[in-house]
Amino acid sequence: MSSWRPYPWLQQSWEHLHSLRQQGKLPHGMLISGDRGLGKAELAQGLASVLLCREQENAEFACGQCKGCQLQQAGTHPDIMRIGLEEKSKQIKVDQVRKVVDFINKTSQQDGNKVVVIEPAEALNINAANALLKCLEEPTKDSFLLLVSHAPGRLLPTIRSRCQVVAVSKPKHDEAKAWLQAHVAAVDSDQDAEKLLMLAQDNPLLAQQYSDDGILTEFDDLAAQLYKLYLGQLALVQYAERVNKGDVPVWLNLSQQFLWTLIRSHMLKVALPIASVESFQQVIEKDGFSKRAYQMLEEIQQAIAEMNSTSNPNTQLLIESLLVRWQAFLRG
Ligand SMILES: [Zn+2]
Repeated sequence: MSSWRPYPWLQQSWEHLHSLRQQGKLPHGMLISGDRGLGKAELAQGLASVLLCREQENAEFACGQCKGCQLQQAGTHPDIMRIGLEEKSKQIKVDQVRKVVDFINKTSQQDGNKVVVIEPAEALNINAANALLKCLEEPTKDSFLLLVSHAPGRLLPTIRSRCQVVAVSKPKHDEAKAWLQAHVAAVDSDQDAEKLLMLAQDNPLLAQQYSDDGILTEFDDLAAQLYKLYLGQLALVQYAERVNKGDVPVWLNLSQQFLWTLIRSHMLKVALPIASVESFQQVIEKDGFSKRAYQMLEEIQQAIAEMNSTSNPNTQLLIESLLVRWQAFLRG
């Protein structure tokens, strides 16, 4: 933990927080926001660590040696509380926040700061959010609330306005690529890095996740199957059966990403560095491509919504009918 350093794209946010801390101006409520896959939780953890380190008041990083650091490493520090989604729940409930309120109102056990991390903060339900407001309105000395959210727009405005926003943003494409190539062993070619970043929209940790999940192989396979579909050479039902035996939500997401790839290629009017997309050039150049592409996007999103809303969707049928749509779309 002592060796934790922020990702390069978090450096600026980190330095800002550090300088506020040095001036004794670190706000009691902070909302760390930004897209998924940028390391917001790590940033919150890094800040929590240094706030609980007892070695030096104003050091930039936790020392990793003192009692505060050791307790944290063991996961037994009494002055940090984390709340998030409990098993199967999609909301953070008021009972959880009541524990936070009690925790904040007690004096710290290690005679230092107290830290609360709430993630994903957008999951606070209305009662929970209202209960939390009190803590944010009347902060106790030496207590810090770190809210982490990729969808801050879903938080109550009153919560947002009482927190200082720490907005984390994506690195530039070249920075993301350099990081990915330096840190992810499986990314050994320029083309792989480009593809992963395109799928992850330049989000480096998401690209890393995609690499770990072997997404590129699946993406190329999907592209190859769709090309066969376009040519009328795909055994549609059999392919749908194969997809149905795998991870259907992942396949749906990849379908969506693939379509976005075609849309981007169409809009940018350049061939993307992806062999599997090049063969779709004729499709992209057809009249009315954009309009039909956005209709297709809606079809995919509806299928995703159906997967999420029904407890027992007929996935075979869902995949088959989506493939029929794909064929109609590709053939224009
Ligand atoms: Zn320490």
